[in-house]
Amino acid sequence: MKKILVTGGTGLVGRHLQEILPDAIYLSSKDCNLTDINCVSNLMNKYQPDIVIHLAARVGGILDNVRYPVEYLEQNVMMNTNILNQCHKHNVKHVITLLSTCIYPDKVDSYPMEEEVMFNGPPTPTNFSYGLAKRTTAAHIDAYVKQYDKKWCYLIPCNLYGEFDKFSEHNSHFVAALIKKIHGADKQIELWGDGTPLRQFMHGKDLARVIKKMIDDGIYESMNVAPPWVYSIHEMAEIAIDACDKNHLKITYNTEKPNGQYRKDVTSDKLISLLGDFKFITLYDGIRDTYTKIKNKKRLFRNNG
Ligand code: NAP
Repeated sequence: MKKILVTGGTGLVGRHLQEILPDAIYLSSKDCNLTDINCVSNLMNKYQPDIVIHLAARVGGILDNVRYPVEYLEQNVMMNTNILNQCHKHNVKHVITLLSTCIYPDKVDSYPMEEEVMFNGPPTPTNFSYGLAKRTTAAHIDAYVKQYDKKWCYLIPCNLYGEFDKFSEHNSHFVAALIKKIHGADKQIELWGDGTPLRQFMHGKDLARVIKKMIDDGIYESMNVAPPWVYSIHEMAEIAIDACDKNHLKITYNTEKPNGQYRKDVTSDKLISLLGDFKFITLYDGIRDTYTKIKNKKRLFRNNG
């Protein structure tokens, strides 16, 4: 049996992967700080994996990205560089790394975006460091593939959500923050901006299923991973309110606050052509499932800033 090592095994994606790929070795930052190359080298010596699934990253919401651009750039570049460098030194046959649709240019001529437009302009300013760090990883993997003919790849997922998301932290993502808002509201929820920006969200479980299928079928191709739909913030809020059975809630907008990037949706045509008929969980079902699993866990809704 192939030995699979998963970094970031305690995160949103890692915990979903644990459910369907239980025999892999899952690591957290406590097992090894991946910004330390000696630690990564020891890790490879110890486990000698055939496959590395590199999920670990500094990940967070817009506020955290805006506040800590140095950490987002340095930590992600260091972790990714150390992992790829040591995977090469230790002859790891397959590497799957996760990027993000934040790598794409702030604006392009047509949507949804294909993989080819990655370098057609700078990433959006609010995620610039994170986006650029991840773009560097794409270039790094492409270079290894070109120079050493590696069977390595990266996946470019859209925004994620699910029961293992960060609900109680200042760096929570949009869907987690939305569910938290809906859970705590009596009459209305207030959202930033005017509700028109378009968003593409995927359940973390779907991304885990894609990774497992790629390993099972021996597919190591770099590509987007996102469901074939995109919703406005307003439509998403309506779906979430319905999925949480809180249909009496009104939605109001604080237009003093920014809208953020208008859209960054991507196409999964390449993925579908390689994986065949892959069914994504609908936003309604995914939010309903997430809310059902977390609503009684009070600690998840504690406000710690
Ligand atoms: P997450 O929930 O924030 O988990 C991050 C993981 O990385 C944790 O296991 C964490 O370990 C580990 N980690 C962080 N810094 C580390 C370090 N210095 N050394 C070792 N491990 C470290 O992340 P996620 O949402 O599962 O994201 C997984 C991947 O998908 C990332 O590459 C992310 O960029 C990408 N992605 C995420 C989203 C999204 O919306 N979440 C969207 C697109 C792409 P501890 O638990 O010990 O802290």
